[in-house]
Amino acid sequence: MTDSADAVRAEVAEWIAGHWDPEMPLARWRELLADSGWACPAWPRQWCGRALPGELAAAATEALRSAVVPGPAEGVGMILVAPVLIEHARDELKRQFIRPTVTGEISWCQLFSEPAAGSDLAGLQTRAERDGDEWLVTGQKVWSTGAATAGFGLLLARTDADVPKHSGITAFVLPMRQPGVQVRPLRQMNGHSSFNEVFFDAARVPASYVIGEVGGGWTVARAALAHERRLAVFPPLPEASGRAWREAIDQRTAAAEPHKWYPQRAGRPDLVIPQAHAVEGPVSPVVRQEIARLIELVCSARWMAERTAAARAGRPGPEGSLGKLASSKIARQAARVHTMIAGASGMLAGPGSLLGGVVAEILVSVPGISIAGGTDEIQRNIIAERILGLPREPDISKDVPFRQVRAG
Ligand SMILES: Cc1cc2nc3c(=O)[nH]c(=O)nc-3n(C[C@H](O)[C@H](O)[C@H](O)COP(=O)(O)OP(=O)(O)OC[C@H]3O[C@@H](n4cnc5c(N)ncnc54)[C@H](O)[C@@H]3O)c2cc1C
Repeated sequence: MTDSADAVRAEVAEWIAGHWDPEMPLARWRELLADSGWACPAWPRQWCGRALPGELAAAATEALRSAVVPGPAEGVGMILVAPVLIEHARDELKRQFIRPTVTGEISWCQLFSEPAAGSDLAGLQTRAERDGDEWLVTGQKVWSTGAATAGFGLLLARTDADVPKHSGITAFVLPMRQPGVQVRPLRQMNGHSSFNEVFFDAARVPASYVIGEVGGGWTVARAALAHERRLAVFPPLPEASGRAWREAIDQRTAAAEPHKWYPQRAGRPDLVIPQAHAVEGPVSPVVRQEIARLIELVCSARWMAERTAAARAGRPGPEGSLGKLASSKIARQAARVHTMIAGASGMLAGPGSLLGGVVAEILVSVPGISIAGGTDEIQRNIIAERILGLPREPDISKDVPFRQVRAG
């Protein structure tokens, strides 16, 4: 009976003792994990979970981690797509996609932003037209992280231009590997290549791959964005041996390759104090003051996140915008302090540079955190309207048929 954190930990430990073998293939282990419900303990029982409330689910996840066994698959499929499918898709679609996402059999990307529709996502122009048992998708997405390797995309497309913009959007599961989909990687200013442009030329989507209702895509989009604002990070990998861990580490290394800069995007506050100790001579009182400000920001953001998690029992809400905004502030302050400590040498990359070029990479990666998953300004709008209850931002295109709205 899993009614206390201790009981949950004991049950997880007993289950691991009966099933874990470090030499088993990773895929087999993740199947067992998914079918036991310990893969995602907060999710419903029929979808790889145990329907545990937030605190007990956290105890189960912690018990898996402390037993040093690999968890479920990682990435956008787990953070964003599977939760959205659980909340909005029909059972047939859930059956088809949730378990293979948890086991890592399939991978995902998010196909939302377009060249003229980022903050104004509801102004998107990629269209899907019904053709018998399929939809044909035509248009372009951009900034699609991981699209070059993903097997499926969570797509938003316009299915009706004769109704106001929020009402004519539908969410789909789009198979990426097909002739109608072309992916072109983009090169970023930090030298990495995580984003892609994705072009659709009558790409085919089965009619059964609609998530929720036709025309109900905006509800799905809002749910996805709320999950995305929780900004998941890859947890550290333990020192472990055996076939399952070797495969998990290989998988993580390959998946994380285009995202190697993500820790730098967060400003690396963890490196600030070691850097301050490493400089010759005393650090100036001005720099010390800025370091104290950074620590203050990091601590208050952590407490705020804990308070929000406790209050919402794991369900995402507009408070996620506070956390996202706090991450941007922390990243910018950390970049500022790194610059104060390193001086001009912080701009150098390549052999012999400070921390192997990490400080330089922080400086060109930090702007990304204020943009991804909704810009800082958009988070402020959400906080103003949905937490503080201030009047909504005027939008003259909101109530007219999309066809009459000037694109972009
Ligand atoms: C690291 C990273 C990963 C990403 N991954 C993905 C992905 O996988 N899939 C995907 O679909 N997209 C992805 N994106 C795209 C991201 O969601 C968009 O870049 C973001 O929503 C902003 O849209 P935009 O770039 O079109 O900027 P715009 O919307 O053109 O904004 C330009 C500027 O105007 C401001 N602005 C716009 N509207 C308002 C307003 N109403 N009030 C106040 N200010 C406003 C913005 O804050 C910004 O400063 C990613 C972006 C980054 C940086």
